[in-house]
Amino acid sequence: MTEKLYYDHDIRECEASVLACRAGENCFEVLLDRTVIFPEGGGQPSDTGSVGGAAVSYAFEDGHDVWHRCARAFPVGAKVTVRFDEQVRRDHSQQHTGEHMLSGVAHRLYGCANVGFHMAEDYVSVDFDRPFTQAEIRALELALNEAVQRDEPTTYAIVDAAELDGMELRKRAKGLTGEARIVYAGGVDSCTCCGTHCGRAGEVGFVKITSFMSYKGGTRVFFLCGMRAVKAAMEEARLLDAIARRFSTKAAEAAQAVVKQGEELTDARRVLKKRTEELFDYKAAEILRDAPKAGDVSVAVTLGEGLNMAELGMLCESVCKKGKAVVVAMSENGGQLLYRMARAEGVKLGMREVCQAVNAMTGGKGGGRDDSAQGSAGARSETAEIRAQLEAYLKSRLKPA
Ligand SMILES: [Zn+2]
Repeated sequence: MTEKLYYDHDIRECEASVLACRAGENCFEVLLDRTVIFPEGGGQPSDTGSVGGAAVSYAFEDGHDVWHRCARAFPVGAKVTVRFDEQVRRDHSQQHTGEHMLSGVAHRLYGCANVGFHMAEDYVSVDFDRPFTQAEIRALELALNEAVQRDEPTTYAIVDAAELDGMELRKRAKGLTGEARIVYAGGVDSCTCCGTHCGRAGEVGFVKITSFMSYKGGTRVFFLCGMRAVKAAMEEARLLDAIARRFSTKAAEAAQAVVKQGEELTDARRVLKKRTEELFDYKAAEILRDAPKAGDVSVAVTLGEGLNMAELGMLCESVCKKGKAVVVAMSENGGQLLYRMARAEGVKLGMREVCQAVNAMTGGKGGGRDDSAQGSAGARSETAEIRAQLEAYLKSRLKPA
């Protein structure tokens, strides 16, 4: 059995005796008669620290025993000094106490329950059993930080588990027997808990809700406390400043500048589309003028540069509107060969079949319907040969019977 000294906020280290020591995976597992190192439990990760000067990477509970994964072995009976890593403990206690306070404030404001908690080295999240609006999340974040500012103490009560049913608590663990530990965190929460906590709400420092999403009919809220929140706020400020500088404006006006540029881009695209249509109208006339014929059908194979799939579609449409034609429009774009094909009304040849032929000539992939199809291949050097081969293929397929 290990005496658990990690619940006392004032104890930083202790002397202990080694009760057992066994080989673990790349470590030695050391059982002590007392410890200040918190073992993983209740969703809170293990402390790190040292035993007799040897690093402890992890501690875990087995019944009433706490085992420490140590860098070296100790003889049974050895007297050792046990310390925990204060920075790691502070960080874990801040995230954990922040979770209590977030859950307590959410329960008070919205009557919702915390139904899941995840604490990792790089993120912390809580699942609530109701949906939230953006405005509610903002109100929750504000009320939570007000509670942190009030700096009320965290207090504990040890009661018999049988008494829990009659008590008013936000949450109680199920199936507890014997002694139960109740934590009253930062003046806004009450629940059974075996983790380590900040002594006062103010030690949580700052809680930042970073995002939230719908999850199983409720909401998953991601948040950070203490230095994690400070670092996240600094990084966001840096990114916002970079955007603001890009737009030669102040940070407060950056969002508006991004929206405005988005609107301008939409307008510019609209104008570009109209002008491209006009340009393709001229181009279509030129293509048809130069295209060879198979019977009364023009065989229009074009090869351009920098056109995207939508633009190739517009070009095909322009050609088919102007004359009885089969058109295959190809373009080299971003290291790819894109192609699109269409037929004018009254032409029988199926474009799916033409697409398969182009796929075979280019080593590409694509398909479509009888009246239009599209595909792409890797960049090709012999595009002029492909074009000639394709023209010959189309002429032979369109030859009057
Ligand atoms: Zn707790």
